[in-house]
Amino acid sequence: MKQIITDYVIPQFVAATDPNIAAANEFEQNILSEFSSFTSEFKTFNLFKNNDSFIEPYSKSIGIRKDFIKKKGIRTFSNVECKAQYIPLKVFFKMFSLQNVLKSTISYLSKLKSQNVVENFVQSAFWRPKLNQFPEKIIIPYFIFFDDFETGNALGSRSGIHKVGAIYCNFPCLAVDFKWGTSVSQSSLDKMVLVAIFHAADRVEFGNEKILEPIIHEINYLKNNGIHFDISPFFKGTIFFEMGLFLSDNLGISQIISFQESFSKTLRCCRYCRMDKNDRHKACAAKITLLRNMTNYYEDLALNRPEETGIKKLCALLKIDGFDIFNWVAVDLFHDLYQGVGKYVLRDILVNLIKTKSYFNITTFNDRLQEFDFGPDSSSKPVAMTIEKLTRTRMIKQEGSGVACLIQYLGLIIGEFVPIDDPFWILYSKLYAVHQILSRKSFSSGLIDSVRTAVEELNETYLECTKSHLLPKFHFLTHYPEQIGKHGPPILYSTIRFEAKHRLLKNMSNVSASRINVTYTLAKKHQLYLNKLFAKRQFDDPLHCQLLNDSVDEITTKYQDVIDTLQIDVTQSCHVAKHMTFYSSIFKRGTVIVAFHYPKYFEVSIWP
Ligand SMILES: [Zn+2]
Repeated sequence: MKQIITDYVIPQFVAATDPNIAAANEFEQNILSEFSSFTSEFKTFNLFKNNDSFIEPYSKSIGIRKDFIKKKGIRTFSNVECKAQYIPLKVFFKMFSLQNVLKSTISYLSKLKSQNVVENFVQSAFWRPKLNQFPEKIIIPYFIFFDDFETGNALGSRSGIHKVGAIYCNFPCLAVDFKWGTSVSQSSLDKMVLVAIFHAADRVEFGNEKILEPIIHEINYLKNNGIHFDISPFFKGTIFFEMGLFLSDNLGISQIISFQESFSKTLRCCRYCRMDKNDRHKACAAKITLLRNMTNYYEDLALNRPEETGIKKLCALLKIDGFDIFNWVAVDLFHDLYQGVGKYVLRDILVNLIKTKSYFNITTFNDRLQEFDFGPDSSSKPVAMTIEKLTRTRMIKQEGSGVACLIQYLGLIIGEFVPIDDPFWILYSKLYAVHQILSRKSFSSGLIDSVRTAVEELNETYLECTKSHLLPKFHFLTHYPEQIGKHGPPILYSTIRFEAKHRLLKNMSNVSASRINVTYTLAKKHQLYLNKLFAKRQFDDPLHCQLLNDSVDEITTKYQDVIDTLQIDVTQSCHVAKHMTFYSSIFKRGTVIVAFHYPKYFEVSIWP
């Protein structure tokens, strides 16, 4: 930094002003004194700590393993201490101490209590009793997410060696979090905190209990003791934090709750019910009598026959006060539908329509894909495909967000070529119906039966069209009605947001040359990322727009029809902008906003 100032900033200053050496020297000294706290890494971190914006991760030993160590050119087979990195959950305190966050959250919680529809997790049948049971307590729920990811080259010869496991946490009612289309906004990532990071191999070797022990201790502490806040005169007292849901993809959930990880080698692989493989292949709906509960869980555990029961050993999370596997572990819409069922079904539909029936060819399809305007979903645009690859594989090769986009828009892209009564087009309509209902942001109790019907019809049509059997992810969808009834809309706790957070850590790992203590490096880098937020002491404003300087009279003249329709007070709430960015979505003239759940759509271009 000093070098940059001396070599570039000072000469430019001198060149741009009167070459007064004394003034230039004074300018240089002033600038350098401003940066004196950043002249070394030690000083920089001290500044952040004194500023109370940097929460340092701490290491904890989780076991000893034997490994080859190279010291001064000599390799020895020695004991190596394995450590995991943890972030103290006082990070919760920092998050809710940001400007207006606690105040807006308490107000938001109060508003949610009075609504009948479920549009937030706290209104779900699972959580609402807590609000009624302890009306005087303020309990803020949070979700815990776990997953492994590769920090090195996933396709390289050393893949797996640098795989790490990360545990994150986010708050479903921190503030009204907004998501347009299928993209995840940057501000959503700011609202997630890293809780722990460790080598994936260490979790396998030393067990979930060792890794989760410090986290479970803090989870129980926050539930029973809470954190004291003083934002007088608005609020002074204790806020309690309770884990709302445990989230992961299906493999991650099986790993943490110690269920069998291989679905194909297990007779009863479903974590919701005890239906066996043969019945599961043909059953289009769940059977209530077969659902798992803690009573039959302990019975199956006692049998100690994992290949048959699906249960390997006691779940480590049961040390969390009041935890119950079948109430606290949620469905994973992103992997079940967009990384699973959607990919299988779309592949079968495209192969049938292109190769078997030749309604259109792959070039036409790719051209249409290329030219189609995906609007706010442009960042999730599906990539071009080849018929050879489609034929060879069982599923389409797309990102999960691309699959969601394709299900959403396939009818508009190639619908004109396909007879409406084609069996595979009917299959598409069933997939579309499931996508539509499962991606709703709010649910009333009457809609649960519609979910059941939509999933059942999709599974039946898939069996009829393909003459195949139902893979595990088709079966998992049959449990969505009761899971949505319990936890609310699955989009509210979709793991897609955490996947985006994974990408952030992967990017941090890619720019780090060191692989010596990769978990510590990543934990520290992540905390530096949060340091920026805590130093500012507030979240970024999600709305960005450049307002035009139109006067009230001009606005009234130009937009009279809009003002009349929406009954706007132009002196208070009407502004004109060429375009605006709300979270990660850009709205400009020509953008069409479709409100799927209401009989309305809004076209921005009608307001010239
Ligand atoms: Zn099941």
